[in-house]
Amino acid sequence: MNQAWLPDAFADCVLQWFACHGRKDLPWQLAPTPYRVWVSEIMLQQTQVAVVIPYFERFIGCFPNLGALATATEDEVLQHWSGLGYYARARNLHRSARIVLEQHGGELPEQLEWLIALPGIGRSTAGAILSLAYGQAHAILDGNVKRVLARCFAVAGWPGESRIQKHLWALADELLSAAARAGLQELHLKHPNWPGTYNQAMMDLGATVCTRAAPDCNHCPLSRHCLALMTNSIHQYPQPKPKRPLPRRATRWLLVQDPDGRILLEQRPPSGLWGGLWTFPEVSLQESSAHWCELHLYQTAPRVEKLPDRQHSFSHFHLDIYPERLLLKSAISQLRDSDRHLWVALKRASTMAVPAPVKAILLELLAMAKASKNQLLDCCSHRPA
Ligand code: SF4
Repeated sequence: MNQAWLPDAFADCVLQWFACHGRKDLPWQLAPTPYRVWVSEIMLQQTQVAVVIPYFERFIGCFPNLGALATATEDEVLQHWSGLGYYARARNLHRSARIVLEQHGGELPEQLEWLIALPGIGRSTAGAILSLAYGQAHAILDGNVKRVLARCFAVAGWPGESRIQKHLWALADELLSAAARAGLQELHLKHPNWPGTYNQAMMDLGATVCTRAAPDCNHCPLSRHCLALMTNSIHQYPQPKPKRPLPRRATRWLLVQDPDGRILLEQRPPSGLWGGLWTFPEVSLQESSAHWCELHLYQTAPRVEKLPDRQHSFSHFHLDIYPERLLLKSAISQLRDSDRHLWVALKRASTMAVPAPVKAILLELLAMAKASKNQLLDCCSHRPA
């Protein structure tokens, strides 16, 4: 630990800063029940506050409590997560809600071990729930907190590495418990529920002051003791993940439309990439779309239009997408794997549980349909009487 700090001075600086500059009116901070804190913490993993807010409000509007979430179908849950990405978070949230309802009478456990045993809840998320909702003194270590600690205490190395992670956890724990030991009484008097407030303050500090690209050290409550600032080496901390080129994969998406303009969607298997979401049928680049139609729709060679290629990046690979629009000449009476497929109007499809690149294409198809309808109306209105 940086010896320049008194044991409780760190928490005190952070708490005083939070009292004046912290964010206190985020939707999940108003009436912070354990359930609302939990949902917000899961949504905030790998996603910024401004993106999360509208999703959180819609999600809570539809599933206002744990019981409502637990009794919803997975498809409904995914539909309200659609566009937020990292869909395993939504599936785990849903599974955990069911477990809590069955095994804990619908109340989120107040013990760290029991929370960590639930799908999708790691040590940091459990610490956030217990401190923010129950006022318990547990540290957190999300990306923002890692950055503040790595800079303030000049912790070299990539925080994803387990040795560095352990070091940062030890720091986070030590700061919290030192503050509790040395100044618990005073902190309690000054800041009711201070562990939750302290953790929120650390997250806010990382998100709004000690930002990744442009830390505002002039307005930072830790600047007098920050080792990275003192040694003019802020941008060396935290060290980025060692770069390895991500592999590329390619897929051909089939945007199959019947004569009524409805689109064919396919539900993905429950686990794995985009598990449980609706996407377009896909084939490898070696397979022909005409062959897929014969095999699955019992129809020969529809009209094929190629749409512009696009790319979607995941954390572990890049996906090159080659969309083809297949316009069927007649309606489909038979369909192979009909329990995994659905014919659906374009407008409705765009509101279903679909991943972002599928939604983008659906909106393009809707715009194309609208443009051709307008063109048709235009032609009719200029036709001589
Ligand atoms: S002084 Fe600057 S680098 Fe250090 S913790 Fe504050 S904002 Fe981050």
